[in-house]
Amino acid sequence: MKFAVIMTVVVVFLIGALVVLNNQTQNASQTFDDKPSTEGQPLLGNKDATVTITEFGDYKCPSCKQWTETVFPDLKKDYIDKDQVNFSYINFVNEQHGRGSELSALASEQVWKEDPASFWKFHEALYKAQPDNDTMENEWATPAKLADITEANTKIKRDKLISSLNDKTFSEQLKTDNSLISKYSVDSTPTIFVNDVKIDKPFDYDKIKETIAKELKGQSDEK
Ligand code: CA
Repeated sequence: MKFAVIMTVVVVFLIGALVVLNNQTQNASQTFDDKPSTEGQPLLGNKDATVTITEFGDYKCPSCKQWTETVFPDLKKDYIDKDQVNFSYINFVNEQHGRGSELSALASEQVWKEDPASFWKFHEALYKAQPDNDTMENEWATPAKLADITEANTKIKRDKLISSLNDKTFSEQLKTDNSLISKYSVDSTPTIFVNDVKIDKPFDYDKIKETIAKELKGQSDEK
């Protein structure tokens, strides 16, 4: 009887320890060999900054809108505007978010290619246009709506945007983004990298700041 009680206590303890260990592994930020390439990607801020924040995002994803409107402004004010870090955005097309996911990604690739100076204005306007009740049934990111947003924020004419969307002119760019998604095992949006470190909780701004500080310090130590 006594033995059975002791065994039960031991088993319960071991299960508890395994759960804790498992949670720690899941919560740890993952470090890769290098940072996601910014080649051909929208880049905001100092090109020569040694720290790059990369977002894998989807204009149709509600959490990405939330991240862009809550975390991103702090990041911009605290680091990007001070030339300490730069920021890159990779499209993560998710069919579960409806056809508008790909269409908005294609529109953004066109804006970056044809009017890069207007890209970030367009980017913020596009997230702002995402309604609270975004569903597949209630698709807002239609070619007409994307053309409205593009015409209001960039030099690209609406007819040109709509014909490019029809022809999927910028789908090669999305293939590049897909290869980064595979390479860095990105499975949700928004996913945030600080250089080669994948942040486990993208809304934890303190964690992002801590990782940026480490990356900035690591480089000054190497000098
Ligand atoms: Ca891209």
